[in-house]
Parts: sequence; structure tokens; C-alpha cells
Amino acid sequence: MSKKVVVLAEAREGALRNVSFEAISAAKKISDGGEVVAALFGQDVSGLANSLFEYGADRVVLVEHPHLNFYTADGYSQALLAVVDQEKPEAIVLGHTALGKDLSPKVASRLQTGLISDVTSIEGEGDDAQFIRPIYSGKAFEKVEAASEPLFVTVRPNNIEPLEAEAGKTGTVDTLSVDITNLRTVVENVIRKATDGVDLSEAKVIVSGGRGVKSEEGFAPLKELANLLGGAVGASRGACDAEYCDYSLQIGQTGKVVTPDLYIAVGISGAIQHLAGMSNSKIIVAINKDPEANIFKVADYGIVGDLFEVMPLLIEEVKAL
Ligand code: FAD
Repeated sequence: MSKKVVVLAEAREGALRNVSFEAISAAKKISDGGEVVAALFGQDVSGLANSLFEYGADRVVLVEHPHLNFYTADGYSQALLAVVDQEKPEAIVLGHTALGKDLSPKVASRLQTGLISDVTSIEGEGDDAQFIRPIYSGKAFEKVEAASEPLFVTVRPNNIEPLEAEAGKTGTVDTLSVDITNLRTVVENVIRKATDGVDLSEAKVIVSGGRGVKSEEGFAPLKELANLLGGAVGASRGACDAEYCDYSLQIGQTGKVVTPDLYIAVGISGAIQHLAGMSNSKIIVAINKDPEANIFKVADYGIVGDLFEVMPLLIEEVKAL
């Protein structure tokens, strides 16, 4: 049976995050031919609706309010509850981002309904949809079915392919007026870390450094390679603890979980807590001078050697492409 599915589009600093399009793609599978409605919150964000149509949304519900300019659990939950109340969807899909992880359990519990979080793929469609999600820090996967309605689903960034964009596709934008109240006052919301532009959790390529990089300056070639490949720099906790880089770059069990197309681990031993954050990357390349390093067990390609010799060669090769 076809279903109506609401997707919460995530915008940051005037641009939609890629995970919004991935969530629409997931919603299409869950809807099985039903309507996919994108909910768009913010202030002066109506211009973003076109991209949502191009990536598969059938309709957009726009909630604009000064209190939705920045994310707050209070404001966004009131807006999302209003959309759910109006649309009465069978499912609501969000990105498994900091926002989605915070908002989805709050709204699902308010509606006394279920949440399937951190979904990496969906098998089947509509009533037959089964959701695959990693458990035990990615060491195993479980397959889950919906047992409540409306069902909340969060999708892990970079796992579900967005639909091919249909340039110029448009649709109806319905404006919903929501009286957002009871807010805490946000004094300052976004403190930008120096991530050189590419968002780590959505990066297609990550060059990640560990304690083997030895210093803050040692990260320079990693940044250069990441820039050449249009990617982002990540790090192990070992490197963060040693103050070679900021904790915002940490990948792993207590850092960010990433699934880029290409993960290059440089001077990282491959502790289980690090693997928890990156072992689902599509292709893993490891550079380590220790041939017994655990990282080679998950690597598709391994280079046994001194990173200070290997990195300049790799950069030269990429420049020559
Ligand atoms: P090391 O283990 O010291 O490895 C350095 C590697 O560099 C070695 O393999 C070495 O052979 C190689 N190397 C050295 N010099 C060179 C060179 N010149 N050329 C090539 N290779 C070289 N860790 C995380 O990363 N993320 C987490 O989220 C995380 N969460 C944790 C949570 C808990 C509760 C605990 C207990 C630990 C957690 N850790 C986490 C820490 C984790 O256990 C490891 O200590 C950490 O990942 C090690 O970082 P590393 O691989 O950079 O350093």
C-alpha cells in the first residue's frame, strides 16, 4: 500500500545539506508510489524548495519563522509536530545528523511512536520495507521492520544514493504558519570550526591522520591531499589527544561516524574505537609503517611505509592526474 512520507529538509547557512536529498530517496522507497512531502524550516528559505522538487519531493511545506533560523529542539519540534498534524504521514524521514539525532526521538516520543535510527539502506518498499542499521559500533547489522505509525526514520549521511536530479522540476509550496513559543533565547549558535569548507560527515573523500603524523605541522600534507581530492581532513583520537588537531575532526566511537567513498588513514593504528567511525567507508586506503597494524585488516589498499615519504609521492601522483 502506498504511503505519505514527510522528509525534514536540513538547511545550513542558506544551503540544503546533501542528506536532505538522500532522505527524499529513502522516503520514495518507503512511500511506494505515495506522496513525498518535504518540510522546509527556517527564515527566508523558500528559494531552496526548487532543489527539493528536482531531487524528488512531490510537494513542499514551508514553515518560516525567525525562531527557526537556527536549530533549537523547542522550535523545530513545534514546527515538525505541526507539519505531522497537518499532513498525517505514515512515516517521517530525517538525516542521522546532529539535528536529526536530537530532534527525532523528541518528536517520536511526543507522538508515542517508533523510531528506526541510523539506517544505512532499505530493502523492499512500502509495507514490505526493511531497514538495515549498524549495531555494536558497526560490527554487525540488523534488519528492522516498522511496528508503529507514524514511523520515524533517520538515515546515515552518504549511504543512500539521492535520486538523479530532474532539472527544472517544480511543484506546489504550501506555507504553514506555526506559532513558535516557549523558546530559550539563543545567544550564539554557530561557531565555525576551521574545516576548510567540506563538512566531514558529508565528505566523499576523507584524509585522516593519527598519532603517526607526529605534529600539527605534520597534518599539512594531509590537508593538501584532501584539498586536491575535494575532501575533508579527519583524525584519530590519538591525534586529537596529542593536540595535533581539533576534536571536531575526531572520527570514531566517541567522534563522528563517516562513510565516504574514499577514506585514507595515515599513521592510524586502527583501534576498534576508530574503526567504529569509519569501517563502513566504501574504499579504505591505509598508510602505516607497521605491517601488522590493525588498520590493514579493514583496508582495501595498504601502503606499508613511512608516511613522510609516501604522502609527498601520493600528492605528486594526484597532481599529475
Ligand atoms: P596509535 O595507536 O599510537 O597509532 C599510531 C600509528 O601510526 C601506529 O600504527 C604506527 O605504526 C603508525 N606510525 C607511526 N609513525 C609512522 C610513520 N612515520 N609512517 C607511517 N605510520 C606511522 N580513537 C579514535 O580514533 N576515535 C574514537 O572515537 C575513540 N573513542 C574512544 C573511546 C574510548 C572509550 C576509548 C577507551 C578509546 C577511544 N579511542 C578512540 C582511542 C583508541 O583506543 C586509540 O587509542 C586511538 O584510536 C589511537 O590513535 P592512533 O591510531 O592515531 O594512535
